[in-house]
Amino acid sequence: MHRYHIWTIGCQMNKAESERLGSLFAKLGYQPTDTAEEASLIVLNSCVVRQSAENKVVNKLNALRHLKETNPQLTLAVTGCLVNSEVSHLKARFPYVDHFFPPGGYPPWLERAGVWPMLPHHPAPTTFVPIIQGCDNFCAYCIVPYRRGRERSRPITEIKGEVEELVSRGTREVTLLGQNVDSYGHDLPDKPDLADLLQELNAIAGLARIRFLTNHPKDMSFRLIEAVVRLEKVCEQISLPVQSGNNDILKAMNRGYTVAHYRRLVSEIRSKIGAIALSTDIIVGFPGESEAQFGQTLDLLAEIGFDTVHVAVYSPRPGTAAARDFKDNIPATEKKRRRDQIEALQEKIAREINARLLGKTVEVLVEDRKKGKWQGRTRSGKLVFFSSNADCRGQLVKIKIEQTSPWSLQGKVKLK
Ligand code: SAH
Ligand code: SF4
Repeated sequence: MHRYHIWTIGCQMNKAESERLGSLFAKLGYQPTDTAEEASLIVLNSCVVRQSAENKVVNKLNALRHLKETNPQLTLAVTGCLVNSEVSHLKARFPYVDHFFPPGGYPPWLERAGVWPMLPHHPAPTTFVPIIQGCDNFCAYCIVPYRRGRERSRPITEIKGEVEELVSRGTREVTLLGQNVDSYGHDLPDKPDLADLLQELNAIAGLARIRFLTNHPKDMSFRLIEAVVRLEKVCEQISLPVQSGNNDILKAMNRGYTVAHYRRLVSEIRSKIGAIALSTDIIVGFPGESEAQFGQTLDLLAEIGFDTVHVAVYSPRPGTAAARDFKDNIPATEKKRRRDQIEALQEKIAREINARLLGKTVEVLVEDRKKGKWQGRTRSGKLVFFSSNADCRGQLVKIKIEQTSPWSLQGKVKLK
């Protein structure tokens, strides 16, 4: 029997693409395996957004070399953002890899063997659905536009058909994915936007929840905010990366907005939508970031009170404007100190935000059972654990919260 093994790191887009690749291989008669040694087909879905991710990919590739050498029947392929247009360099560096293909691309040795895009084979109650590929923004630090190319939106009818099919196979919630979902549709004939897409998906019977990420503060529209208010399946959760609380750093990052604009946007979101869970991304130690500029990021986080903050230390990426134009002049120890300081502040903020849910009843969409507990998420995206002997997978369950932490909630089933 032929088995395939997919190793994935990086963003949700990579995860979504790996699920779809798995479905394609299954259609061709392969069985999945978690053990690389058992596989006759191995795909590495890579990430190079930071040097630390790239190092993991290279280590994994080195580790797989002996498998390829001892098993000539093995097909080894690499996709994801390690793969650039200069595949010859990669081929010279990793001669034992059979195929390199671009992120979101079709496995080249299977040409015309199946239809692309494929649906995930065994959709879970929650499923990722890519709606726009690529990015046109060229933030100064970011390698993504160089590896994923220009923006390409999928037509509404195609996405809707796919979500209907997913729902018929058990999906209850979809998360629409794009590097910048606010750009959705500008390249399509009728120029629909994300609000139009949400309206169409909201009408699908059996679908309970819709989420989307990532928004861009320079592009997020009032029309979208109104759609979140109006459409009952669209969850009260927005991912809005700010990256820095200082205008000069934002400018050097080529982000296209000011801190004042970001503040106005958040207050518009909060006044229209009400209770909303906000998450953001921060980069610390961008070239030239002073202690005072970093302090403004801390102040902004304290002022806004995000539910979740993803903080990364700046990592120069080859070919980007920041790597070319600026010296990476903040020492690694200082970058880590700033990261730790943000994490400590955010832990305190998230503890307070989550503690407000104590004693409240929330609606949880149950995803999985692990270590004897059911786990799922609230509409706001918070992880909730509870016990029940019933089969709750894929169900919407009312849970009374009895315990909270900065990272998750625990509770018990509320009986009617
Ligand atoms: N399209 C999304 C996410 C892009 S990558 C957005 O616009 O935010 C995910 C996160 O990785 C970014 O938000 C940023 O915080 C981080 N990141 C990207 N490039 C980086 C780099 N060179 N060094 C450190 N962090 C980086
Ligand atoms: Fe990278 Fe900026 Fe595009 Fe996000 S919006 S993928 S950070 S270039």
